[in-house]
Order: sequence, then C-alpha cells, then structure tokens
Amino acid sequence: MASKGRTTVGEKARPRAHAGDGETRARERRESDGNGRRKGRRDKGAPVAPGSETSLGKDGVPVRTLISEHWFHTAGGFAVIIATALGVTGSIPPIASLALFIASLGVIAGAPWIRKHERGLEDSSFKSFALMIGATALPTALFALGLVLWSSARAPFEPHHLIGALVAVSSLTTITSQGRLPTMLTSLLAAWLALGAQANLVFTLAVTVFGLGAGFWLTKIHLQQTKARRARASRIARVQERAEEMLSDYEKSGQGWFWETDRRGNVSYVSAHIARLLGKPAEELVGTAFLEMFRLDAQEKESERTLNFHLSTRSSFQDLAVQAATREQEERWWSVSGRPVLDKFNNFLGFRGWGSDLTEARRSQRHVTELARYDSLTKLANRFQMSEWLEKILSSPQEERRACAVFLLDLDRFKQVNDTMGHPAGDALLRQVADRLRTAVGESGSVGRLGGDEFQVILPGRHKPYPLAHLATRIIESLSQPYSIEGNRVIIGASVGISVCPDHGSTSEELIRNADLALYAAKDGGRGRYHFYANDLHSEAEERRQLEQDLRDAITNGELELHYQPQVATMSEKISGFEALVRWKHPVKGSLSPAKFIPIAEDTGLIAPLGEWALRTACDQLAKWPESVRIAVNVSPLQFANPALPSIVTNAIANAGIDPKRLELEITESVFLNDDTQTEQMFASLKGIGVRLALDDFGTGYSSLGYLKKAPFDKIKIDQSFVRGATMSGTRNGAIIASIVSLAESLGMETIAEGVETLDELDLIRSLGCSHIQGYIYEKPLAPAAANARLEAGLEAIARGPRSARAPRQTMLRKVLVEHGANRYQGTIRNISANGAMVEGLWNVPAGTQFKLHLSKDFAINVTARWSKEDRMGVEFAEELELDDAGSVKFTRPRGAITQPADQTLLRKAG
Ligand code: C2E
Ligand code: CA
Ligand code: CA
Repeated sequence: MASKGRTTVGEKARPRAHAGDGETRARERRESDGNGRRKGRRDKGAPVAPGSETSLGKDGVPVRTLISEHWFHTAGGFAVIIATALGVTGSIPPIASLALFIASLGVIAGAPWIRKHERGLEDSSFKSFALMIGATALPTALFALGLVLWSSARAPFEPHHLIGALVAVSSLTTITSQGRLPTMLTSLLAAWLALGAQANLVFTLAVTVFGLGAGFWLTKIHLQQTKARRARASRIARVQERAEEMLSDYEKSGQGWFWETDRRGNVSYVSAHIARLLGKPAEELVGTAFLEMFRLDAQEKESERTLNFHLSTRSSFQDLAVQAATREQEERWWSVSGRPVLDKFNNFLGFRGWGSDLTEARRSQRHVTELARYDSLTKLANRFQMSEWLEKILSSPQEERRACAVFLLDLDRFKQVNDTMGHPAGDALLRQVADRLRTAVGESGSVGRLGGDEFQVILPGRHKPYPLAHLATRIIESLSQPYSIEGNRVIIGASVGISVCPDHGSTSEELIRNADLALYAAKDGGRGRYHFYANDLHSEAEERRQLEQDLRDAITNGELELHYQPQVATMSEKISGFEALVRWKHPVKGSLSPAKFIPIAEDTGLIAPLGEWALRTACDQLAKWPESVRIAVNVSPLQFANPALPSIVTNAIANAGIDPKRLELEITESVFLNDDTQTEQMFASLKGIGVRLALDDFGTGYSSLGYLKKAPFDKIKIDQSFVRGATMSGTRNGAIIASIVSLAESLGMETIAEGVETLDELDLIRSLGCSHIQGYIYEKPLAPAAANARLEAGLEAIARGPRSARAPRQTMLRKVLVEHGANRYQGTIRNISANGAMVEGLWNVPAGTQFKLHLSKDFAINVTARWSKEDRMGVEFAEELELDDAGSVKFTRPRGAITQPADQTLLRKAG
C-alpha cells in the first residue's frame, strides 16, 4: 500500500536534517510497492555528484559515460549556427558543405544510441574513447570542415565569420560535453582542426595526434575516477540497503516501531502497523498530536505525566510505559523512548524515537504475580497476599483506618477426607469450601487460603463483636452443609478464631498469633465453633503444649489406666459387659478427663499408640473375666481410618486368647462423613474378625438413620444428651429414643442408653424399651481392682441414686451483677440449677473466663464461663448451691461456705 508520510527506513538510518514540514514530507512521499519496498533502484537516494546524470549501472550505482546524455542537443546548436551564418553572410553553402553538415547532424542524431553502447562497455578505456570520438569529435570535425569549405567557396562568408562560427561550435560542444574533459578536449580539437589543415597540414596532424593521445590519457583518468566513485557509491548503497531492510524487517516483525514528531509535537512519521492498530491510515495519523496516540487518563498516571513532561521540556526519555489509544477490546501497552532532534544550530526540530509492545510482557508479569499471590487451586489470595493486605491496613496513616478483624479458619476432619478419598477429592472439596467462603464473606472482606485446610478472612474497619460473631456463625453453618464430591456425600466442619485490631493487637504478627490461639480454643471447645481472642488463651495454649508433651511421656511411662464402667441388661438387670474408659493420672495435675486429652492425642497422632494400648489392655483384662462378660473399647475415627486396624485388633485378641465375640468396638458416627468404599471395607474386615460393633454417641452428630441400614452394627449407643433431656416436660427426646429403639429392633441391633443417672430416667428408658443401660445409676467407671471386686460380687446390678436430677433447671428473669476484674456488667439469669446458670447480657465471652456473680445482697459466687453464644453464656458455679424443699435453688450462701462479703455499692449501681 502506498502511504503518504512514509519515510524510508534508509533515510532514518542516515542522519538527515529534520523532516517535518510540508516540503520534507513531499520528499518523503516515495512510491513503495506492497511490501514497503520501493520500485526499482532509482529512488535509492544514493549520493550522486551534482550536475551528473543519474543513469545507473548493473550494480545499481550511476555510470558516467564519456558521451553526455545532452550531446544530441549539439545538433540543434549546429542548425542554429548554420541559420545564423546564412542570415549574416547571405550566402548559400556549397554542396560539399551541405553534405558534411548533413553527415555531422546524422552522426549526432545517432549519438544516444552510441552512448547506450558505451554504457554497456563498463570499463574498457579504448573502446569508450573510440565511441566518444565517433559520436562527438567526428561530427564536430565534419561540421567544422563544412564551415571551412563554405567560407573558402563563398566570398561573403568572410574569415571573421568563420572564426565566429568555430568559436560558437567550440562553446557549444564544451557545454554539451557536460564537464567531460576528454570529450571537451577532442571536440575542441576537432572544431579547429579543419581551419589548421588549410594553413599547415603537418602542424595540424601533429596537433591531432597529440590531441588524440591527450584525449585518450584523459579518458583513462576519467574512467578510473568513475570506477572509484562507483565503487564508493555501491558500498554506500549496500550499507544503506542493509540498514533499510533490517529496520523494515524489524518494523514488520512487530517487535518495535518508530515514530517522529515535528517541532509542534505532531506526528510526522509512525510505523505503518502502529497506524493500523490505532485504526487510522498512516497518512491520517501524520499531523495529529503525538500524545493522542496514548490514553493519558489510564491508570499509570505517573508515567504519562512524564511523557507529557518530556515532550514539553524537550528532554530525552527511556522506556516509558503508556497505554495505547487503540480500539481493541483488550488494553495495549507500549514502552516508548525518544530524544529531541536538533539541527546544527541547535534549533529544536522535533522528537524521534521508538516503541515496543509491552502487552505480552505485562500479561505474563501479571500471570507471575497471580502465581505468586494467589492460590492456584482455589483462586483465593495466598498467605503472602493476605499478609500484604493486612500490613497495608495496619500501616494506614489514619488511625481509624487501621481497625480490622482477622478470622482464621480451620476445617474439621478435612484430613480424613483427604486421607481416605484421595487428594483429587480433597482438592475438589477445598474448591467448594473456597466458593462457599467467598459467598459467605461477600463484599465485607477478603478471603485467602493460607495452605492446607487453613483459611483467612480480613475484614477492614471497626466491627462490633455481634456482627463478627454473626458472620462467623454464618461461615461455619455454610461450610458444615454436606458436600457432593465425586458423587459421594461428604460432611466437614469448620472452626473460627477471631482477633480484632486494635483490641487484640496492632501488628499483623500479634493479630495472626492471637487469632490462631482463638482458633485453637474454638477447636478445643469442641469444633464447629468460633472463638474470640482473650488474654488467657496464651496460658491455655502453653498449657496445651505442655499437656501434649506430658501425654507423650505418659504413654511410654505407663501413666494411663483403663477404668471399666458396667453395662447392664435392662430386663435381667445383670452386667452384660464393661466399657473401657481411659484415665490419666497426671503427676502434677492429678486425674485428667479423656475429654481433655483425647482430642490432643488425635491432633498429634498419639491416638495410634494410645488406642492400640487400650485395645491390648482391655483384651488382657477381659481374659480374666467370666465368659458371659463382654468389653467395649472406644475406637477413634483416626484409628478407624488406619488400614492396619484389623491386624491390631486381631493381635490383641490372639495375645489375650479371648473369643472375638466378646470384644465390642465403639465407633462414632463421624466415620460415615465420607461414605466411601474404604469405610465399607473396614467394616467388612472387622466383621470378618468376628468382633462386635457399636455405634457410639448416636444422636449427637449428623445422625442419619440411613447408614444404620448399611453398616453391620450390633448395638446403638444413645447419647446421654438424649437421656438427660428425656424426663423434662415438653421434650420430644422420648419419642426419638422410642423410634431409634424400634428401628434398631427391626434391624436386629441392641440399644444402650448412656448416662442414666436418676431413677426417673431409668424408669423412662426401661419403658422406652432400650435393651441395655449404662450410667451412674448403676455404677461409675471402676478402677481395674474395683471392677474385679465388682465381678466377684456377682453380675446382679442394683440401681442406686436420686429420684430426679439433682439440679433441675429453673427458668427465671433475675437481674444480677457480673464482676470481671475491675469491670462490672449487668446481667440477667435466664435459668439456674445448683451447679450453674445461663446469664444473658454479655457478648461473646470466651470459655474459661472467670467472674464473680452477685446473686443477692450478701451473696456472691465465683463462676466460670463454659460456653457463650451471642449475648448468652453458661456459667458453672465454683460450689454447689443449696436447694430448698421444693427443689428450687436458694439464692443464699450455702451453709458452711466461706463468707464472701458482697459489695453494697456495686449492687446499688447494678440496680
Ligand atoms: P464416651 O465414649 O461417650 O464415654 C462415656 C462417657 O460418659 C465417659 O466419660 C463416662 O465416664 C461418662 N458417663 C458414663 N455414665 C455416666 C453418667 O451416668 N453420667 C455422666 N454425666 N457421665 C457418664 P469419660 O470417661 O470422661 O470419657 C469421655 C470420652 O472420652 C468418651 O466418651 C470417649 O469418647 C473418650 N474416651 C475415653 N476413653 C477412650 C479410649 O480409650 N479411646 C478413645 N478413642 N476415646 C476414649
Ligand atoms: Ca464410648
Ligand atoms: Ca458415648
């Protein structure tokens, strides 16, 4: 395509006076073929000496022939001389002269043809010389001879006329020789030779010979010079052509482009493909403001300001990133460099420079950034990005903008899914978790994955505890809904730890560490919960770490012991077996509850050795007991996921030499959270060994009656929480227990009610038809010796205990003062029992917080918060309260309790 305003790249390479204004541009309007390459070599722009013709040789550089291209004009000049002579002398030339004139003019007319021949000779001095003599000296001599004959034949043609005519001939040939010395010399000689021949033939011949010699010598010199000049020209042309083609290739490759402006900042040249990108023909682009090629309002304001700045201050610039003003969908970025162009008087002529495309580089840079800052699995921000965001908030110049809340999340049981269903399933689960998390948090904050099953949420701004607690609950609820992974139903849970800036720290380290402690507390509190950071969590974490260490030692040092709690058949009231429950006599802390250390064992992997020890010990114990007695051993879900479990069980049985039917494994519902083939296989192999299986804690988890049909259980253990509430009025627990019992019966399974404590509960459970009962009403867990003694006394069990629960709850609305350190709050007791109360009015109290509760004017009791949900908390009393005869709690100091003087002023304040 022909393009106006297109400068040749060759010209670019060669320093030249600034192009820009109309005249220069006209010069630049060169023809070019479709490839941008110019037609022929005529326009190469190779330097040619002034006044010389531009005919080119085969090698593309100009050839200078001895015969001038204007030589044929001599013919016209000769005609004028003849006409003038005719006019001036009034005589007619004789026939001989006329013939000579015609011959001369004829030869001159053929001169262009001879010249063409000469051009083809390249450098043969002699032939060139001969052709030149033939084309120039010969016709000149013929013409001069004609004049001489005319003068001698006709009187009016006087000698001075002849001299004048010969001077005219010499001048004319000198002009038409166009500065060619050999041509000029021989033509001059030829013009005057005829005149000399009339006077002195010998002299004339001598002059002719000398003239021809000199002419030939000059010809040689002329041709040498021509050759040298041509060689130089061809060298320059080659260099130029190379530069031109290289730059044109470069432009065409799209890697870079060139531009030039005039002194007013308007485009005077721009590479064609840039014009194409800008959606305008190059000629239209020429003359428009250079800055219009860019989007000056784009994000990178800074760099555009500097482009503007450089152009207005006429200073050089390098690699400025600018956004192109193209009409493409995707944004395009260029890197632009340029320098001002000055003439030799230091006048500013404009700018010239180059540019390259940054789009791809930017895209890959962005990609790298994404890889470095985002988690490729979930597309959530990664740890690095999250900590940068948090850092940014915390280092905000305005203090009020530094406020934020940090959530740390941990998935409960994720490891199990990953271990049992495989990593692809784990990945799929994490992706779904990420989606839910994103939805739950929405616009209010940023979500990230720190690694594994750990997530983080940053909520900028000041937040009250309630909305934070609300969000945490929403997140937990959302993440705890069932997932569908590879067609399987999977349930996991989530725990959340919350820390708030500035209340819980002002650096990211503090906030993260404290959120982490809160997360630990949430998990410790039973998982599926959130927990706010509180100061005492530090000591709790330290305590936990210590306990972990101690537990390790305890297993090796044999500090653990199994206690045995009888299970009683309802109808016969005879002991049918015992549940083995682990006990830890800590050397310093005394007896520790398994509820406290089993989760630690599960977290640290210590559950494997602990569980194996429990199985062996229980089997060994059972070997000493009557055949009719069975033993039940608790098996953690983590043990259940271990493919080695069947062989561990087999070993324990074989070592003790017991009948496998006497061993019952208690498994909780959580093993069903991933209903996959591995779970089924484990059930099958355990059944294959011949042991019995009991479903523990039924009704506390994700109870689904569905899997009761699938799994080969021999017994269902109804959780104590069902039993506990069953005797209260208005509860549906009784109905639920009854339906579990009837379902179990239809499937041929036994049922056992756990935690039966009162005679009322016992009566109810009996009436509901449970086949077995386990609880304090018969026996607490017994130390091995006590268990042996109990068996020696016979299998009959006798229920002993209170008629109803010792501490029935009373509902009420009673204002109380709650004292915590130096702070006093107003609370309302919603219900109370001898051992604790539910208090309303304090938000999100961390479990374990200690208060003093002012129950009446002269009675305050120390309490510990056990749970908290929104503005309610459950507190446990440090000492048991007394009940009146009607079983109601007395708001007075128990007899014999240490006096605690109540603070009168405080009570008045509390109203
Ligand atoms: P679990 O399997 O539900 O065990 C029954 C728990 O209820 C025992 O608590 C038992 O002492 C208690 N209990 C029994 N009857 C009554 C009653 O009438 N009233 C009340 N309030 N409680 C009663 P314990 O011994 O503190 O064990 C707590 C949990 O620790 C067990 O709950 C079990 O999940 C776990 N655990 C105990 N020993 C082992 C073990 O060897 N291995 C594993 N993996 N877990 C164990
Ligand atoms: Ca159990
Ligand atoms: Ca249980």
